[in-house]
Amino acid sequence: MAKKDYYEILGVSRDATEEEIKKAYRKLARQYHPDVNKSEDAQEKFKEINEAYEVLSNPEKRALYDKFGHAGVDPNSAGGFGQDFHQGNFDFGDFRGFDFGSDIFGDIFESFFGGMGRRENKGPVKGADVRYDLEITLEEAAFGAEKEIEIIRTETCVKCGGTGAKGNSLRNCPVCNGTGQIRHEKMTPFGRYINITTCSRCGGSGKIIEEPCNVCGGRGYTRVPRKVKIKIPQGVDTGAKLRISGEGEPGIRGGPPGDLYVVIHVKPHKLFVRQGDDLIYETYISFVQAALGDEIEIPTLNGKVKLRIPEGTQPDTRFRIKGEGMPRLKGYGRGDLHVKVNVVIPKKLNEKQKELLRKFAEISGEELAKHQKSFFDKMKDAFGV
Ligand SMILES: [Zn+2]
Ligand SMILES: [Zn+2]
Repeated sequence: MAKKDYYEILGVSRDATEEEIKKAYRKLARQYHPDVNKSEDAQEKFKEINEAYEVLSNPEKRALYDKFGHAGVDPNSAGGFGQDFHQGNFDFGDFRGFDFGSDIFGDIFESFFGGMGRRENKGPVKGADVRYDLEITLEEAAFGAEKEIEIIRTETCVKCGGTGAKGNSLRNCPVCNGTGQIRHEKMTPFGRYINITTCSRCGGSGKIIEEPCNVCGGRGYTRVPRKVKIKIPQGVDTGAKLRISGEGEPGIRGGPPGDLYVVIHVKPHKLFVRQGDDLIYETYISFVQAALGDEIEIPTLNGKVKLRIPEGTQPDTRFRIKGEGMPRLKGYGRGDLHVKVNVVIPKKLNEKQKELLRKFAEISGEELAKHQKSFFDKMKDAFGV
């Protein structure tokens, strides 16, 4: 599901001032606070508002968001990639404090269950997959093609090597004294209860950044455009997914990179309509051609071919030209080209043409009603002259 635009969530314009953002946020937060608003989606909405405010109220994050959208700021945007990254390396503190509405519940929950549900994966993790939507022409789908696309990928910041800290400004977290964990002790009627949770200030890394790296702003990674060559196989259709292995987001803690998925969209063609492996082409012939038969030219993906129209062809007749459709993606050969023939009845005839058609009717023994007569004949009939 596409994430909603942060400006849209807060109902402010993209050039809104800090004050306007704050005002909009306060108003919405009051309106959707789960203590006040008991509607079903209030909590979700409240969370959304807070998330949007957290980014837009911070000039650095707002700039990243303006530039890269959600991918630039959202720790979860790449399938949890950012989250792991943060827990491993960064000052995670300001990511947790803001969402006071739902985090209160989160914290209570966590202290009861000791954060059992949290992911504590410290081993290598495969990088997230990346999706790219690619539009191609019908010809490219038919003959295959090589394309170069540009994807924006997350890469470890070259300046700080992924630590997010400027120079050597990484130091031990003052909250957990560098252990990454917080010990809670509680007396309960059942005895002493000890609970250990991940330090929320440093996200469990035990380190915080004194001064953020000026290249990546403390995130440890940057978004870098990267060109990737892809081969489009013959016969692909809209919805086909091409997997380019290893071109996704980089892995975490030495894990392999994710994959790139290129999703194909075949553009509509001006002549042909595709139906699976077959193509449909619609053409028009005159009623004379239909009646007497003719030979017409039909375009195909491989150039023109001749099609014989037999005598007495009826409107909407379909002819099949074998093997002039799309190549079959699976298996050999190609689909067919179906030609739908429409018969055109002329809208305007001159006197001579009409005369001939009347004669034709006469020979055929066909009797036409009076209105088929000429205007002057009709006048004569009307006035009995
Ligand atoms: Zn950096
Ligand atoms: Zn800590």
